[in-house]
Amino acid sequence: MQENYSLRKYNTFGIDVYAHYFSTFKLMEELASLVKPGTPLLILGGGSNILFTQNYDGLVLKNEIKGIERIKEDDDYVYVKAGAGENWHQFVLYCIENNLAGVENLSLIPGNVGATPMQNIGAYGVEIKDVFHELEAYHLKDKALVRFDRDACEFGYRESVFKRKYKDQFAITSVTYRLSKKPSFTTSYGAIEQELEKMNNKDISIRAISDAVIHIRKSKLPDPAEIGNAGSFFKNPEIPAAQYSALQSLFPGIVGYDLPNGNTKLAAGWLIEQCGWKGYRKGDAGCHAKQALVLVNYGHATGEEIFLLSEEIINSVKDKFAVQLEREVNIFFGR
Ligand SMILES: Cc1cc2nc3c(=O)[nH]c(=O)nc-3n(C[C@H](O)[C@H](O)[C@H](O)COP(=O)(O)OP(=O)(O)OC[C@H]3O[C@@H](n4cnc5c(N)ncnc54)[C@H](O)[C@@H]3O)c2cc1C
Repeated sequence: MQENYSLRKYNTFGIDVYAHYFSTFKLMEELASLVKPGTPLLILGGGSNILFTQNYDGLVLKNEIKGIERIKEDDDYVYVKAGAGENWHQFVLYCIENNLAGVENLSLIPGNVGATPMQNIGAYGVEIKDVFHELEAYHLKDKALVRFDRDACEFGYRESVFKRKYKDQFAITSVTYRLSKKPSFTTSYGAIEQELEKMNNKDISIRAISDAVIHIRKSKLPDPAEIGNAGSFFKNPEIPAAQYSALQSLFPGIVGYDLPNGNTKLAAGWLIEQCGWKGYRKGDAGCHAKQALVLVNYGHATGEEIFLLSEEIINSVKDKFAVQLEREVNIFFGR
């Protein structure tokens, strides 16, 4: 157990805050012995979807439970269980090497396995819920291991029961994914098809899609090793179709996608760009020059500065479009 421990290396924003106590754990039994009733607790994965605005006055526990195991299979699927502390992209590469389909569109998303259902991560037309089978999570108060199937996780857009009803109550210890032996490829999102063409790939394969996604992501998104960031800072907002039509007549260039429930999902990046934020910088806090959805730390910004910038962005989008932006990144205010 470390005391007054810097978290700078443990969050991709690179914010230099301190945890009162810090430890890692590799086994569920270790986790059980570290949990102290009454001490605020934060379970940390790769720190790629977190903004710390202050020191954390409690215990930060970094999940390092490892292991990847095939647990069962049938004619169509292989069920693979992964420890929550496995790096997500390494898990994707394992699937590709073993010719297991379903997660190739989610290549190169930073972070660990444990946060994938927590956030219901998604990219290029695929979300974790599409390949999710079940997870095991340790109830921090009851000290019991609980199994959650897909329905019990109540997945939504970058949402799950662990961000709402069960917030801060569980540490996810493992996730089991249902991967397909007979792939059905999703290539119609983003620039995957164009990228496959550019790569001169005549046969679409799991690996080809993964390579295309990796290439697109590397060209579009800032690498946290170079500029601190947590990917998309805001969610794409959902509004009723009638409100979308009204906005279209005022702003003909507005970008929106029809949803099966009749609502429209707006491109938050476009709204932010129209408010003039793209490329904005104040001190070391900024809005990325190529991706308005990504807030960045150019070096020594504080979490508070990035949070205040996000407030200003939310307010300006509300003033101009009457649309409320919601943050995707998890904000921590001290405890
Ligand atoms: C450059 C970049 C690109 C990104 N692109 C995408 C993208 O395309 N799609 C997407 O969905 N996301 C994207 N993200 C966001 C991020 O990678 C994902 O949300 C990822 O799943 C976070 O994983 P993590 O292990 O880093 O979680 P952390 O940041 O460590 O934690 C996130 C939240 O989950 C909780 N948590 C983490 N692990 C556990 C656990 N085992 N048990 C209980 N709670 C836990 C934490 O307490 C925290 O509240 C991107 C981020 C970056 C930096």
